[in-house]
Amino acid sequence: MTNKDALIEKKLQQAVKARTELENAHKDQISTFSNFAARLAVSCKGQDVALDNLLAKFRQALSKGVSFDDLAPLINTITQTLKNQESVNAENHQKLSTSISEAGRQLQKLKGIPDDTRRQLRHLLDSELKEVNVSYEFLPVFEKLIVIYQKVLNAKSNSSTDKTNIAKPELASELLTLTNEITFEEDVAKEVTDIKTTLSQTADVDSLLDCAIAIIRIIANSIARERQSAQGFLVSLNQTLEELHASILSTTNSTKHMSAELSGLNKQIETKIKLLNEQTQKATSIAELKELVDGELKLLRKDLVKREQLEQEDKEALLTSFEQINSRIAILETKVNKYKKRLSEQQFKSLLDGLTKLPNRAAFDDRFNQEFHMFEQHDSETTLVVIDVDFFKSINDQYGHSAGDKTLQVIARALKKAIRKSDFIARYGGEEFVLLMPGMPLTHAKAPLEKIRNTIKAIPFKFKDKQVQITVSLGATQFKKGDTPLAAFDRADDALYEAKNSGRDRLCIRK
Ligand code: GH3
Ligand code: MG
Ligand code: MG
Repeated sequence: MTNKDALIEKKLQQAVKARTELENAHKDQISTFSNFAARLAVSCKGQDVALDNLLAKFRQALSKGVSFDDLAPLINTITQTLKNQESVNAENHQKLSTSISEAGRQLQKLKGIPDDTRRQLRHLLDSELKEVNVSYEFLPVFEKLIVIYQKVLNAKSNSSTDKTNIAKPELASELLTLTNEITFEEDVAKEVTDIKTTLSQTADVDSLLDCAIAIIRIIANSIARERQSAQGFLVSLNQTLEELHASILSTTNSTKHMSAELSGLNKQIETKIKLLNEQTQKATSIAELKELVDGELKLLRKDLVKREQLEQEDKEALLTSFEQINSRIAILETKVNKYKKRLSEQQFKSLLDGLTKLPNRAAFDDRFNQEFHMFEQHDSETTLVVIDVDFFKSINDQYGHSAGDKTLQVIARALKKAIRKSDFIARYGGEEFVLLMPGMPLTHAKAPLEKIRNTIKAIPFKFKDKQVQITVSLGATQFKKGDTPLAAFDRADDALYEAKNSGRDRLCIRK
């Protein structure tokens, strides 16, 4: 090989190498470009389904290797679709801006937004939102708005928790106690039961308010009814009194009239006898006398018959009017008695619990104060017990409110049966009972109270074909020197609390 040949050979090799390097560089560029295009396609995803499909196709084509002849039509279509998407985006941009601004304005109208939050909101709506030019700038604005929403919600719920959340259960149970304390007429019984069911199940303030309003409405109606019937009674009482008055008046009038007539007649008879007497003395012959007497006697008999008749009529008239008066008085009496009975029933009813027919809380308060007074006067030994049904709420929850009601009735009956005649048991409210045992020292009360606990436990309750055991917890104490009724009750309640906390179904005692 000549030098020249070697030179050419070398140049050729250099040219081949340069070409290979160029090709490699080109390949690298294409692959970078492909990757870049693929990545771009991925980040464009999610704006529109048609566009997504096109982009997927585009990426697939890229991954197989780029053939610009194949890609060109696809790129054209995608470019067109992207152009369309731009105007859609602009429209969306506008809409988004409007709805953010609207949401913010709505929020501004709310009362009770803390001052600094209100300031932040105003700034967000009046400047920050207006400065948004491209879609992604919405995100931080959105985020801020949501933070503001949360702040407002927190502020609102904090200000309302005291009134609603905490008061809810208390309000519900107070309403329940109220419905239990009042005896409702038959015709609203169903409505009252429904209200009770709602009360024992609901946790939301609006329904509680509805219940309260319903109770007030029922009470107002029955007051109106009571007043109406009282008015009716008074009207009829008045009417009967008027009739009675008229009847007495007519009796006196007719008696007056009769007695005037009678005394006239008597006077007439008297005069005639007097006249007869004078004439007989003047008479000179028997025949004359006989004639005179005969005539006068005839007249006299007539007068006497008339007098008798008059007297008879008078008697009858008197009798009928007395009968009339009597019957009116009888009617009046029955009316008065009926009303009295109703009144005393009302009074009696308001001391009885409608559901269990045990004395209610009001009756207990009366008796409790009496017994406490007795204790202060005579130092008598009196035990006070608070009894609460265990897990009663779950009976309602599992088997329904009316099963709960029946359970309370059965327990009340059993309690009533289990105590001594001299003891006093009342439904204190809900599923809570109180027992007063006058003359019973606390130390002696243990055995009978344990017996009561076991009696309730042994009642074979059956709900939905399931045997269910129900237990009670008891807290007992005794009146002691320096006590007040409240202190004694609190002690019994503390004992009950202890019984509940140490496992329920037991008796705890506080000396
Ligand atoms: P604990 O053992 O702690 O006493 O639990 P509990 O479930 O018995 O106590 P809680 O005080 O939580 O629930 C008492 C339940 O009694 C709530 C209320 O719905 C129900 N209740 C109160 N009065 C009545 C009523 O007249 N009828 C019915 N069916 N349920 C009532
Ligand atoms: Mg209970
Ligand atoms: Mg209770």
